Amino acid sequence: MTARLRQVRARLREAESAAGRDAGSVRLLLATKTVPAELVRAAVEADSADVRAGGPGEPVLLGENRVQELVAKAPVLVDLGSELHLIGPLQSNKVNHALRWATCVESVDSLELARRLSERCVGTDRELDVLVQVNVSGEPTKRGAVPEEAFELATAVAALPALRLRGLMTIGANSTDPDVVRAGYALLRSLRDDLVGSGVPGTAGATGLSMGMSGDLELAVAEGATVVRIGTAVFGSRTL
Ligand SMILES: *Cc1c(COP(=O)(O)O)cnc(C)c1O
Repeated sequence: MTARLRQVRARLREAESAAGRDAGSVRLLLATKTVPAELVRAAVEADSADVRAGGPGEPVLLGENRVQELVAKAPVLVDLGSELHLIGPLQSNKVNHALRWATCVESVDSLELARRLSERCVGTDRELDVLVQVNVSGEPTKRGAVPEEAFELATAVAALPALRLRGLMTIGANSTDPDVVRAGYALLRSLRDDLVGSGVPGTAGATGLSMGMSGDLELAVAEGATVVRIGTAVFGSRTL
């Protein structure tokens, strides 16, 4: 696992360099669904030792898909100090559970969910980083705002108290054609550029682009990803 993690760091460095971007400028988020907490801990500790030893890059972020898994694993990982992102669907009845542990919700795909998160955060006197999820490929199995409505949703989210809009997130097209996948990432980037350039209050900090997974991180980095979310390439394939 440590070897695979180093390989991913090396791929990331190469992709940054190929895209003319600074070494270490793209954050690595470990997508830890189905991975036991002890293995996640081992990965984080190995990686932080490498980063401390002078490897480029910032400490890894952790991402969970399911609130139930976040709630189960977070208590035993929280001492690592890693940021915990929710990267999967969030039902309104799970908002409180998610907010207990998540430092960022990357999967905001409706104004209703955003309002609920905001209300909860106001009630508990905290702020929350959020990304708006966009379905760039239009595949019906994928969640996220349709691209045509992403601007409106994101600006509405940005206006809510207690939420800090940090950017956009997408799950890339499920295609073997790199041009198709890359076009989706380019679309997310242009939506982000429109948003940040809009001058709408609350959008100036929405510069983040969470995109790219094990199979296509190079394409995402080439299109400006600021976070790539990696599972399989570090932890092996999932059986569940
Ligand atoms: C599982 C998952 C990933 C990581 O995918 P891999 O192909 O295993 O690297 C990234 N983002 C989300 C939302 C995921 O559910």
